[in-house]
Amino acid sequence: MEQHDAIIIGAGIFGCGIAFELSRRGLDVGVVEMNPGPGMGSTSSSGAIVRFSYTTVDGVRMAWEGNQYWENFADYLETEPGDHEFGVAHKVTVGTAFLRTHEDLHALWVANMTEAGVPFEEWTAEETIERMPFLTLAEYGGARAPDDPAFWADPIGEFPGALYNPDAGYISDPQLAAQNLHIAATKKGATFHFGERMTELLHTDGRVTGIRLETGQEIHAPIVVNVGGPWSSMVNGIAGQDATMAIKTAPMRHEAHLAPAPDHIDFEHNGMIVGDLDQGMYFRPAPGNNIFVGSADPECDGHDWVDDMDQLHREVTEPLWSRQMMRVAKRMPEFGVPRQRMGVAEAYDVSSDWGPVYDRGDLDGFYMACGTSGNQFKNACVASHLMAELITAVEAGHDHDRDPLVVAGRFTGTPIAMSAFSRNRSVNTESTGTVLG
Ligand SMILES: Cc1cc2nc3c(=O)[nH]c(=O)nc-3n(C[C@H](O)[C@H](O)[C@H](O)COP(=O)(O)OP(=O)(O)OC[C@H]3O[C@@H](n4cnc5c(N)ncnc54)[C@H](O)[C@@H]3O)c2cc1C
Repeated sequence: MEQHDAIIIGAGIFGCGIAFELSRRGLDVGVVEMNPGPGMGSTSSSGAIVRFSYTTVDGVRMAWEGNQYWENFADYLETEPGDHEFGVAHKVTVGTAFLRTHEDLHALWVANMTEAGVPFEEWTAEETIERMPFLTLAEYGGARAPDDPAFWADPIGEFPGALYNPDAGYISDPQLAAQNLHIAATKKGATFHFGERMTELLHTDGRVTGIRLETGQEIHAPIVVNVGGPWSSMVNGIAGQDATMAIKTAPMRHEAHLAPAPDHIDFEHNGMIVGDLDQGMYFRPAPGNNIFVGSADPECDGHDWVDDMDQLHREVTEPLWSRQMMRVAKRMPEFGVPRQRMGVAEAYDVSSDWGPVYDRGDLDGFYMACGTSGNQFKNACVASHLMAELITAVEAGHDHDRDPLVVAGRFTGTPIAMSAFSRNRSVNTESTGTVLG
């Protein structure tokens, strides 16, 4: 019978990251992944943006600490020559400019970044346009679908500028980052089972004892970690944990699109990550002078909850693609709507308040890092450290529910209160209710 100290369900960026962190602490780790390789779930579709605009101070601290892992990723992996056949994922620092569309949100982000010590600049309209002359700061009064006549109405004003973070950027290849962590974890002794699906949690007397795979095979361990990404609610359901949690998670379908920048604009090198809550979207430079366009969930687009992740429709659809392209054209007037539809369709693992759950479950030995809500790729490494600290402390007898752990960041030393990521926290009422968290 196969036996480990801990079993991890899922080999996305989180599963590989937690496998690495637990293995380097000396645990014998087994990882079960139904895909044939690491990072092939929602991680592979990620925009992999590293930004610091969150509505809670703990959220900002996490993102800032998380950024240090990406700045030092090869060293963090303890890379030795020949380890990574396809190279090591790296951060491309381009900066973020969030257009100043909502003064309340702008003030909250500024306060949180100030408290967390994250560098930022408040740009005037002139400074914003000087930095990105291909943009307009026109205020359209909110996102609309192109079949709404209001979509075509003239602007009602102009935004006063943008909030700029020079250290923001994106990770060159999110799937490669998961592969890198997979290799680093394997070097520390972790065992990965690809092409295997966990279908049952084994437990006795309120304590986890292992899992059963679809094949009927049992793998035993006193610790099981749910990092199933958009399948997390399914795995929590199998474990009987979902009903007792205050914060729920559920998969929501999302598309992200790719379009060429106009030939005369070198967006890849002169562009940056632009947050535009007026048009309900964000976009960033992508290799080959392309523009990666993501949705910030404007109300008019609705929410596409997924009943069965095994039936997720993974093709980009015309209506969403064309409305996003037309929204980009409203923000970047020289953008020509492309003929070819490009992009990805995947699911976010959305929580009740669009913030993650990094916590234990009610059953002893059951843990979860889920509810990543389309905004936690950036935090996968720091969250893996937090999860490993949590598991170590709880297994040593610490009562995390009564006395939530505060973990010092490995790089910044900043204390991060894990209560902010509790399964039983109160819903964050400041949340934007979108992918921005
Ligand atoms: C379109 C899109 C854009 C995004 N953009 C950004 C961004 O710009 N910045 C950012 O920070 N975040 C972003 N995110 C979010 C980020 O990508 C995710 O939070 C992160 O990748 C989740 O990683 P994960 O390991 O939890 O999930 P996944 O990568 O989905 O991995 C979970 C794995 O678990 C496996 N699994 C599930 N159930 C079982 C089972 N029962 N048995 C075996 N295996 C199982 C699945 O096969 C899957 O491989 C984006 C997400 C999407 C979809």
